[in-house]
Amino acid sequence: MDNGLHLYNTLTRKKEQFVPLHAPGVGMYVCGPTVYSDVHLGNCRTFVSFDLIFRYLSHLGYKVRYVRNITDAGHLEGDRDEGDDKFAKRAKLEQLEPMEIVQKYTLGFHEVLRMFNTLPPSIEPTATGHILEQIEMIKLIISNGYAYEINGTVYFDVKKYSEKYNYTILTNRNLEDMYANTRELGGQDEKHGRLDFALWIKAKPETLMQWPSPWGLGFPGWHIECSAMSEKYLGAEFDIHGGGMDLAATHHTNEIAQSEACNHTQPAKYWMHTNMLTVNGVRMSKSAGNGFLPEELFTGNHLLLKKGYSPMTVKFFMLQAHYRSTLDFSNEALEASEKGFKRLMAAVTLIDKLSVSGENSFDFDALKTRCLLAMNDDFNSPVLIAELFEAVRMINNIYDGKANISAEGLNKLKELVQNFVFDVLGLKDESNDSGNLKEVLDMVIQLRTEAKENKDYATSDKIRIGLQQIGIKLKDSKEGTTWSKE
Ligand code: AMP
Ligand code: ZN
Repeated sequence: MDNGLHLYNTLTRKKEQFVPLHAPGVGMYVCGPTVYSDVHLGNCRTFVSFDLIFRYLSHLGYKVRYVRNITDAGHLEGDRDEGDDKFAKRAKLEQLEPMEIVQKYTLGFHEVLRMFNTLPPSIEPTATGHILEQIEMIKLIISNGYAYEINGTVYFDVKKYSEKYNYTILTNRNLEDMYANTRELGGQDEKHGRLDFALWIKAKPETLMQWPSPWGLGFPGWHIECSAMSEKYLGAEFDIHGGGMDLAATHHTNEIAQSEACNHTQPAKYWMHTNMLTVNGVRMSKSAGNGFLPEELFTGNHLLLKKGYSPMTVKFFMLQAHYRSTLDFSNEALEASEKGFKRLMAAVTLIDKLSVSGENSFDFDALKTRCLLAMNDDFNSPVLIAELFEAVRMINNIYDGKANISAEGLNKLKELVQNFVFDVLGLKDESNDSGNLKEVLDMVIQLRTEAKENKDYATSDKIRIGLQQIGIKLKDSKEGTTWSKE
């Protein structure tokens, strides 16, 4: 299938034609959240970006198996296996079981992604559910000669691995410089080399989550879970591996080393990395303390926010930037996105009101081709959105009687909007999202009609004016009363 799709591969540092290993199946693994606290908007940007990629690959007709893990154990505070266990620390702080922490923040993560209208992955495996697979993988790495055990902790031997493989293949860093610039970590003096990283970590007596293993009681290092779970569900070689850019230097570099040490092959053909959401130029992160919670953004309840923005406004703001560009948060940018999104949705709702007449004034096939070209160019959503604003201009012109559309043209336009606005970008019309607003309004309108029938005009006016004040306009006609939002 010649799909025309080109994507940027971090591994080769260039845009490449996308040729799946086993079309029409596509395997995609994305590193999921570490569920020890609320996800912030930066995390959401990465998952919204991969949702776009998942949606577009599915739109092209691929059967995508999208695996996104949940890290629920083994992630220490430092990316190099140093510091406290994030889950244990949080569990103590909140006086909960570690698994209560995991449950609480997994549910929160799902709820936030549901608000952003992202599709669920095909499989969402957890680290704690795959301890056996991780132990088996570590055993194989040891027997292949690329790991060693000291006092119940197993380390990956980067020096030995580098004799045969390129440890820095993903980031193209100079290995000698890395040795020179990497600091020794306290408490890990037993390691042979300072770049060596833990595959299995010996438990301390107070460690809350620990499992038996051939090396004694302990828990897996962070990196091994993704190697074990991607292989289990997608095979030793699969198509796409993704995550935020910040994961490339350590987590993904180590994942490649582990998988290659086991299977003697690169796990993923294409490595894709999303760029960071920043606030005043600084990367949004939990540790920097500049992470908005999505909830704060929706309610406007944060010092840096002028007001609240709806989930689709925020998603539209994210999609207006290419996934490999940084995106800086600002009220002005969000306000512009809010206007743009409303304009797009207003035009979309007008489609059903267009009347067909005469020849098409516009070439809808050419527009569709341009939409596809945008997405085929490394999932370029900002260019796609610019094309969709062309569609908005066309719709408005037709509605205003300045241009024509045929019945066939109307079908094409409807299909284009369905495909690109809803299926690919995953936007949705929020005007009907007010819970059971419709049912409540139907009831209020019924009461007003009864008041009018009883000639109680004071009450009927009170209802009409009251609704108007909260942005609901009533329109009376022979057929009855209808309502709309201003
Ligand atoms: P974590 O829960 O910290 O492991 O992060 C989950 C995902 O969010 C990872 O893929 C990170 O790379 C990504 N991420 C973290 N901070 C940001 C940010 N500021 N912008 C975009 N993605 C981020
Ligand atoms: Zn991972």
